[in-house]
Amino acid sequence: MQVTSLVVGSFQENCWILHDPDSGEMVVIDPGAEPDRICEALAAQGGRLTAIWLTHAHLDHVGGIEGVRRRFPGVPVHLHPADRPVYDHASRVAAGYGLPFEQPAPPDAELAEGEVVQLGAHAFTVWHLPGHAPGHVAFIGADQLFGGDLLFAGSIGRTDLPLCDRTAMAASLRRLVTLPPEMVVHPGHGPSTTIGAERATNPYLARG
Ligand SMILES: [Zn+2]
Ligand SMILES: [Zn+2]
Repeated sequence: MQVTSLVVGSFQENCWILHDPDSGEMVVIDPGAEPDRICEALAAQGGRLTAIWLTHAHLDHVGGIEGVRRRFPGVPVHLHPADRPVYDHASRVAAGYGLPFEQPAPPDAELAEGEVVQLGAHAFTVWHLPGHAPGHVAFIGADQLFGGDLLFAGSIGRTDLPLCDRTAMAASLRRLVTLPPEMVVHPGHGPSTTIGAERATNPYLARG
């Protein structure tokens, strides 16, 4: 499996492209902005885009959806239903920041805790990890975790935004660090890390 990231938009969000050359399937995680760049990267890889997976629906993770879907019509968007209020209000929040934003059409599929989603023969288990957002999920597979805005290298996601929940965040982080230390974490912002490196050095994990 090939993993590519693009840093997009004013919030420097990591959009992830997963490509399984054996099946020719590709998935995009969190197409947050700059859909033309994302589409170029997808076209360059030459696979077939089968799904858009969302870790959560903050505007910096969903702003490129419609642009990608214009180029790849009918590609289904997967979101945990608890993040639907966030998704539906994204354009209003963007307007508050004074940012250009294209409100995406409603998602097509609901993600659930424990669900397995596929990229070719690669299985990814969905973990519902609320706190930063009510319907925040991580995709865990191929010894890698696509973790959105939960755990960053040296930091954690914000809990001071509307619909954040600090207690849920703490529980989600406690659950996350039960994963094997060698597991690679691909976050929604900043460089990739591992569970072990964050357990050893992340001050937000040491604290509690
Ligand atoms: Zn976020
Ligand atoms: Zn973000």
